Amino acid sequence: MYFSDLGNQSSTKNQLIDLFKQSRVPHAILLSGASGCGHLQLALSFSALLLCETPNENDACKSCSSCIKYEKLQHPDLHLSFPIHLSKAEHSEISDDRRELFVSSLDKFKCIGKKTWYSTMGNENKQGVIGVKESQSIIKKMNFKSFFGGPKILVMWLPELMNLQASNKLLKLIEEPAENTYFILVSENKNKILPTIYSRLQNIAVPKMELSAVSNFMVKNFQIAEPESNIIANLSGGNLNKAVVYHLNSGDSGLNMTLFVKWMRLCYSRNIADTIDWVNELSKMGREQIKDFINYTLEMSRQCILGNFYIERREVKEEEENFLKKFQPFINHKNISQINTLMNDAYYHLERNANPKILMLDVSLQLYKLLRK
Ligand SMILES: [Zn+2]
Repeated sequence: MYFSDLGNQSSTKNQLIDLFKQSRVPHAILLSGASGCGHLQLALSFSALLLCETPNENDACKSCSSCIKYEKLQHPDLHLSFPIHLSKAEHSEISDDRRELFVSSLDKFKCIGKKTWYSTMGNENKQGVIGVKESQSIIKKMNFKSFFGGPKILVMWLPELMNLQASNKLLKLIEEPAENTYFILVSENKNKILPTIYSRLQNIAVPKMELSAVSNFMVKNFQIAEPESNIIANLSGGNLNKAVVYHLNSGDSGLNMTLFVKWMRLCYSRNIADTIDWVNELSKMGREQIKDFINYTLEMSRQCILGNFYIERREVKEEEENFLKKFQPFINHKNISQINTLMNDAYYHLERNANPKILMLDVSLQLYKLLRK
């Protein structure tokens, strides 16, 4: 992960690059922002720049021996710390025991949210912890000589999940760090960091990502076409983690489902301004994709009817089932035939080159009425 992979995520990126250029990089930085704001990516890209032997103006060179080591996050002077699940019997695990899993998840998702990480470790509902053994390991590692002779960096993701004992152990190290060491802490909830730790950090607030930055990130990291990336960005509301999950689920019905849920909510609440935005985004998808989405809507309507008659649904995924259970009363024997006709007509007109924006807005307005029948 380099700055160039972050797309047009700009303000914090420039702030960090300026600190670097002016040789004013604080030894303990806190990047704080909401989940999915891209701060972990910023921390890792900044680490690459700090470790690079021949950095460019705005980014690591990607070709020196340090950058080559950094490529798969295998650089021996880049230490990663993150919450893990501690088993009951064995409380001696440290992040390094899970580093390979963490790095491969990062490689797959390009960013990582708490839920994704917890479920990767085997239980999405179990909170991870940064424990005291981890602090001991950090102290040891950060006091070693650097492997490459350059700086040593610790990137800690979610320092708010450090327990009290672990936090207290790290205090001294953060206050009086060894020479040429950097701590970059990446927090989603800075208020939960122990105040004595917090006061030793230079806080940089990372704003929520612009939708265009999320879209750009998706294009760069997942090689998807722009209309789709714009839709994903829009649905994500600027949360990178959500965008990635939408994308990875969209292989089959994920994107369609996300679109469908949002559409039905908008139509039911008769939110005209947001419906227009939604239609504009949808229209940017290709005609074939919109037709595919119409087919999906027809299928979901049929599934609602099955549910209304207590017939077991077999072909739906778990998240679809969860939504349909709540939503099925709104598509029923009173409106199903009109909804069917509406969707089939829309499909017919799309095939005959109707303007998708006008068509889908009209379909939405008709759904406003039908869903209230
Ligand atoms: Zn380099």
